[in-house]
Amino acid sequence: MQCPKCKGDLETKEHQHIRVQRCNKCYGLFLEAHMLNETFAEWMAESFLDVGAISLGKKYDKIDDISCPICEVAMDKIEDPVQTHIWMESCPKCNRVFLDAGELTDLKYETFSDKLKNLLKGRRKRDKAGA
Ligand SMILES: [Zn+2]
Ligand SMILES: [Zn+2]
Repeated sequence: MQCPKCKGDLETKEHQHIRVQRCNKCYGLFLEAHMLNETFAEWMAESFLDVGAISLGKKYDKIDDISCPICEVAMDKIEDPVQTHIWMESCPKCNRVFLDAGELTDLKYETFSDKLKNLLKGRRKRDKAGA
């Protein structure tokens, strides 16, 4: 399956019972919406699945007119209600979502307390311009 953003290949990656498609070029993640909750529930799942550099994700975040590689319909851009800087593409037909590299990790840690988030900031690269 071809990546809707960069035309790389989407490869199936599995961690425990979680299954996602990951692009071998831009490291975007394509997964069923309910799998998102699974990755949030599974300790450290994002570190196995969301391995792309945040800078890479930022680059591909600018591409937003993509089509679902399965249904071949235009995907909707949806905003995370908590973290409004995160936009993800969602397929209106199969409900799969596409996340750029780094976004899964970003989404997951917003669900934890601010205290833990501050703790993690040290090892996460932050784009100063984007803050
Ligand atoms: Zn890609
Ligand atoms: Zn679809």
